[in-house]
Amino acid sequence: MLVIGLTGGIGSGKSTVAGFIKEKGIKVIDADQVAREIVEPGKPALGEINEEFGPNILKEDGTLNRKKLGGIIFSDKDARQRLNKITHPRIRKRMFEKVDEKRKDQGGKGLIVLEVPLLIEVGLYKSVDRVWVVSASETSQIQRLMKRDRISREEAAKRIQSQMPLYEKEKYADAIIDNNQEPKEVREQVHAMIDDLLKKIDNSCK
Ligand code: ADP
Repeated sequence: MLVIGLTGGIGSGKSTVAGFIKEKGIKVIDADQVAREIVEPGKPALGEINEEFGPNILKEDGTLNRKKLGGIIFSDKDARQRLNKITHPRIRKRMFEKVDEKRKDQGGKGLIVLEVPLLIEVGLYKSVDRVWVVSASETSQIQRLMKRDRISREEAAKRIQSQMPLYEKEKYADAIIDNNQEPKEVREQVHAMIDDLLKKIDNSCK
């Protein structure tokens, strides 16, 4: 089974492309969703966050106060690193457990996709078989972010500029998905890439 790491910049279209991939019956594991799972009440990561960041980091119902934690780590690099140290290894472990479950399900055949916004930054690109980068011009990214998150042009630009530039991420790519076009075209592009890869895998098994 081939593991594809899907990444890109904020608002470049990762989720949109993941949706097109799912239409082909391919399983997509979303790192953001796994990140939420590993801090659910009762999970060890939540206990460690509680110890590290104080009791006020939990809401009354025992769930993580994301807004508060977000506020702490936003401007404090050290705090961000302490949080990442708690969460990143667990996110990684859980994602690959899910890959292994699917591998068994599929008898080792086919494809699986990991949608990971920080695939390159955290070095996870080394643990996948292919890296696909969803790319869009900064103008498109800004316009789409403004609309999706109801934020100003300045705020959208600030969020993009706080990240690793897309052209840097593209250097790690085995394939770049051009998301500057109409969704219909991008959908066709993605479906063709999946068909192509499935055909290649199939041929290499013969
Ligand atoms: P990401 O997951 O990379 O942050 P999204 O997939 O959420 O990005 O895309 C950002 C926003 O732009 C969403 O509201 C999405 O619907 C919209 N969008 C994505 N691709 C296109 C496209 N090709 N044309 C127009 N809008 C798009």
